[in-house]
Amino acid sequence: SLKCGIVGLPNVGKSTLFSALTSIQNVAANYEFATIDPNIGIVDVPDSRLYALAEIVKPQKIVHTTVEFVDIAGLVKGASKGGGRGNAFLANIREVDAIIHVLRCFDDDNVVRSAGPVNPVSDKEVVEMELQLKDLESIEKKIGRVERAAKSGDSKAKVEFEALKRYKAHLEQGKNARTLPDATEEEKEAVKDLFLLTMKPVLYVANVDEKYLHEDNHHVKALREAVKNEGAEVLRICAALEAQIAEIADKEERKMFLKEYGLEESGLDVLIRAAYKLLNLITYFTAGEKEVRAWTIERGWKAPQAAGVIHSDFERGFIKAEVIKFTDFMQYKSEQACKEAGKMAMQGKDYVVEDGDIMHFRFNV
Ligand code: GDP
Repeated sequence: SLKCGIVGLPNVGKSTLFSALTSIQNVAANYEFATIDPNIGIVDVPDSRLYALAEIVKPQKIVHTTVEFVDIAGLVKGASKGGGRGNAFLANIREVDAIIHVLRCFDDDNVVRSAGPVNPVSDKEVVEMELQLKDLESIEKKIGRVERAAKSGDSKAKVEFEALKRYKAHLEQGKNARTLPDATEEEKEAVKDLFLLTMKPVLYVANVDEKYLHEDNHHVKALREAVKNEGAEVLRICAALEAQIAEIADKEERKMFLKEYGLEESGLDVLIRAAYKLLNLITYFTAGEKEVRAWTIERGWKAPQAAGVIHSDFERGFIKAEVIKFTDFMQYKSEQACKEAGKMAMQGKDYVVEDGDIMHFRFNV
C-alpha cells in the first residue's frame, strides 16, 4: 500500500503528531497487526460519504479506507554526508510515496531548539538541502553512466543526458526536483529510475500553539510566503492539542471538546484526508446489508483494475459494473430506486472509476 513519511528536524512535534495519528482511536480496525513496527501506523480515512451511505443502508459494519504513515526520525544537518542514522533516514524516505514535512511554528522556551530562534523557513531549507544533496548524488552517478553514450550520438542517451543536466542545475539552486519548470514527460522519465527524494509530493504541516489554531502567526505567514510557488499545501495543526483529542474515545465527548476550541473536526482528520489526496488516491464504495465499505484506488484506474482491489477473481472474470453516483444514491436512497430512475449505469471494462462511485461488479468465476 502507499505510504506517507513524516519528516522534520528534531523537536518540531513529529512524534507527538505520529502518536496522535496512531492512537488507539484512529488505528484502522482491520489492521491490529500494524502496531508491530512502532514507526508505522495504518489509519482509517474519515469520510462523511461513507457515514451517509451507512445511514441509509444500515449495514452490519462499515469499513474505511486506510493510509499508512511512517515516522521517519533522525534527520539532522549533514545527514546526506552519510553518518549511520542520517543515511538510514534517507533510505526510509526513498521508500515512501509522499512526504509530510512537519515544521515548528510554535514558540515555547521549554522545548529545546539548537539552531536559535524558531524559524520554519530555515528549518525547511535545512531538511530539503539534505534531500537535494542526496538527489544530486544520484543524478551525478547517472550522468556518469550515460554521458559517453550521449556524446557518441546515442539519441536516447542524449535526451537523458540533457534532462539530467537540467535537473542537476535546478537542484544546485537549492530547489526540489518536483518543481522543475515545464518538465516534460521525457525528462521525468529520465530520472524515474532514481526515485528522487525531492520528486515526491509534499505537504507541509505547520505545528502551531493552540492559541494560533484559527489564524496564522508570523511563523506560518513566513512559511506560506516561502512555499507559495510550490503548489504544495500548508496545514496548520496543533500537534499537542491533537494528541489530547485523539485520547478521547467517546464520539460525543470528542465533538464537545472540539467545539470548545471552535473546531468542526480534528486537525488529524483533515491531515489524513490531505495525505490521501497527496497520494493521488480516490475512493469508491460498495454498499450492501453486510457491509458498507470504502475502497482505495489510484486516480485513472479502470473498472476491472478497481474490482481487483476487492478480489483478483473480480478483475480476471470482470464482465461489467453497475455504477451509481453518490449524489444520486443520496437522492433516491436505494439501489432499486436509482435503477428505476435511470441512475444506475452499466459500465464496461474501459470505464474509468470516479471518486465517490458506488460500484457493483458482475463477474465470471
Ligand atoms: P520530534 O522530535 O519532532 O518528534 O518532536 P516531539 O513530538 O517529540 O516534540 C518535541 C517537544 O515539543 C515535546 O516536548 C512536545 O511536547 C513539544 N510539542 C510538540 N508539539 C507542540 C505544540 O504544538 N506546542 C507546544 N508548545 N509544544 C509542542
